[in-house]
Amino acid sequence: MSEDFYDVLGVGSNASADEIKQAYREKATEYHPDVSDDPDAEEKFKKIQKAKQVLTDDEKREAYDRMGHDRYQQAEKHGYDAGDAGGAGGGGMGGDPFGGMGGGAGGMGGGLGDIFEQVFGGGGGGRGRGRSRPQKGQDLRTGLEIDLEEAYAGAEKEFSIARPEECPDCGGSGHPPSADVQTCPECQGQGQVTQVQQTPLGRVQQTTACPRCDGEGSLYSETCGECRGEGYVQGEATLSVEVPEGIRDGQTLRMDREGAPSPEGGPRGDLLIDVSVREHDEFEREGDDLRYRMPVSFPQATFGDTVQVPTLEGDVEFEIPEATQSGETFRLQGKGMPRLQRRGEGDLYVQVQIVTPDSMNAEQREALENFAEAGGEEIDVNEGFFEKIKRSF
Ligand SMILES: [Zn+2]
Ligand SMILES: [Zn+2]
Repeated sequence: MSEDFYDVLGVGSNASADEIKQAYREKATEYHPDVSDDPDAEEKFKKIQKAKQVLTDDEKREAYDRMGHDRYQQAEKHGYDAGDAGGAGGGGMGGDPFGGMGGGAGGMGGGLGDIFEQVFGGGGGGRGRGRSRPQKGQDLRTGLEIDLEEAYAGAEKEFSIARPEECPDCGGSGHPPSADVQTCPECQGQGQVTQVQQTPLGRVQQTTACPRCDGEGSLYSETCGECRGEGYVQGEATLSVEVPEGIRDGQTLRMDREGAPSPEGGPRGDLLIDVSVREHDEFEREGDDLRYRMPVSFPQATFGDTVQVPTLEGDVEFEIPEATQSGETFRLQGKGMPRLQRRGEGDLYVQVQIVTPDSMNAEQREALENFAEAGGEEIDVNEGFFEKIKRSF
């Protein structure tokens, strides 16, 4: 679980601030969740950010070096939560007082971690259970298929997804507007209840969401029939996403706040879009490079020729050199795919494939027969002979 921040960035413990920033940039590019196909990219990206945040702050780095990783993490958590505690409770979003710390539901026996969690309201700092803030909605996932041309040039793609939307009947409140309202007798409309607990550090007050009204402070005579009180119904959303140029098959795009709505009135989750790039009729992709198999005739390969080669931005002229062999590959620099979020393009590799004619007219046949009879490479090649073959194709 706990990885040393220096290890996370891949630098030594005496690395300079510049080295740390440099390492951060490299790692962040590699693991940016918008571009990485590593399924753990998001987690890694967060660790990288955290490591950089601490190690580029002289004061924090000094404390980190002095305390070591685990103690620093603990100290920081408590500091953060303590500072945050004044504002907590307002949201009234309760939760299990013993959650968070590795399921230590036993309470008193759970060690200092549990107590600090209770004293300071716990949660916070990326733990995802956020007691003082309403929980974010669920992330949703969908697939998107694009053409190689779209991966090349980038595209704005419209698509529809099924996703929960705010209930139109009750506006997300879960009860009809006509319902009778009553102040919750359990919490007197406060939405939260306070319990006092005895801990080894003394008496601790614990504030949680009122279980009777779910933190709302009010009780309603009716529940919305459309959404059965959930506040949202299954709907369909049409969205549009910017596909960056150079994107590869299997990469995932993230749209912030386009996932499921939060049942607690918090922000929506995110939408993850798994991109697949359709195979192309003419080009084969290898990373940022493209490969194209170009059929040429025997005379073209023998004498050389100027031909048009397709690229993703139109045909370009290409000079087949004399005496080109079948299978020979030529590189057209910069005619491949754009590099995702970097400068430059890959290359286009043109592989020549000599095509044997499957039918010939009499003149062609005669010319080729003459060529065959002339025999191998020892023959005295005269210009007129080759010219005749060339013309006849
Ligand atoms: Zn209540
Ligand atoms: Zn409703």
